[in-house]
Amino acid sequence: MKTYKYKIGDQSNTIRIGNLLDDMWQVHAYFHKWQDQRYKDGLPYANYAAMCQHAKDLKRTTHPHWKSLPSQAIQAELERIDNAYQRFFNKLGGKPHIKPRHKFKSITLKQTGYKLTNNRITLTFRKWDKGKWRFDKVPYTFHKHRQWQGTISRITIKRDACGDYWLCLTTTYTDFRPLPATGESVGADFGMKDAFLTLNTGEKIQHPQPLKSNLNKLRSLNKELSRKKKGSNGWWWCVRQLARLYRKISNQRKDFHWQLSSKLCKKFDTIILETLNLEGMKRLWGRKVSDLGFYQFVEIVKYKCQKHKRELRQVGQWTATTKPCSDCGFHNESLTLNDRQWICPECGSDHDRDINAAINILRAGIAVT
Ligand SMILES: [Zn+2]
Repeated sequence: MKTYKYKIGDQSNTIRIGNLLDDMWQVHAYFHKWQDQRYKDGLPYANYAAMCQHAKDLKRTTHPHWKSLPSQAIQAELERIDNAYQRFFNKLGGKPHIKPRHKFKSITLKQTGYKLTNNRITLTFRKWDKGKWRFDKVPYTFHKHRQWQGTISRITIKRDACGDYWLCLTTTYTDFRPLPATGESVGADFGMKDAFLTLNTGEKIQHPQPLKSNLNKLRSLNKELSRKKKGSNGWWWCVRQLARLYRKISNQRKDFHWQLSSKLCKKFDTIILETLNLEGMKRLWGRKVSDLGFYQFVEIVKYKCQKHKRELRQVGQWTATTKPCSDCGFHNESLTLNDRQWICPECGSDHDRDINAAINILRAGIAVT
């Protein structure tokens, strides 16, 4: 499965999508409350089929206005609620709760309710007009920056914090484009101090650290926000600006991660990384860990490796990588976090801390097979 994301252009009737999302939020809120009430009354959990039946009954009786909502979107929302509860029952997630309306961000349609032609998506809205239901077909233009492959299994319309709308097409296509073998392997060490990634070849890759570089802007915007009257036009303007800045930061980070993982996949057949202890790192380093986005980077490398038929290996968390000397194997127990360079007392070789670790990672990774 591959998902393509396109931005829906701003036009005068874009607000109808927003209204539809807000209406769909009511379904979301209603069914969460309903499940809660059932639980309090000692009734068993109502599964997906039971929720669908209940939705049908509601449309006939107390909620006739729900008839204007696309039925597939309602089904998809009920499926989502059911999934959340199933995860909760299987102890995979927390108790499902109602999202605030502004955080309810997307609706999903499977086959009906939309039509795609060229760079347009036509959505069908239902409205009650002169005593009967009418279908309102509204075309929206989206920025088709690339052609999708395969058949579309479902579409999702999203609203982000900046108030922009996005069209996500999920297709059955699997992107598989193997790259020619290079016969090279690489060990890479994540670092906090000198570089984001150090390769065993000695190459050090710096991270742009978008959060850090935009921190001043963020602070001044937050200050401005706190001076404004909550709910006023100026306050909303500030909220939007902040959302835009956060989006920019995350895009910069993502861009860096994609480019770097693509570069690694082109050069090397086998990529060996260490398994990260993110919780511990967060305690030690705070904000910087989130800014670097190690987890996201590993996920992207995983995807890229699958796509280009590369192998990703992860060395266990408890494998010693920093302390042993990569030349003679001597364990330098006196090494602290601040020692960037050290000389091995056994064989006398001069080590850069990160490059030494990268070499050890590479060795440990090769030894696994
Ligand atoms: Zn040594």
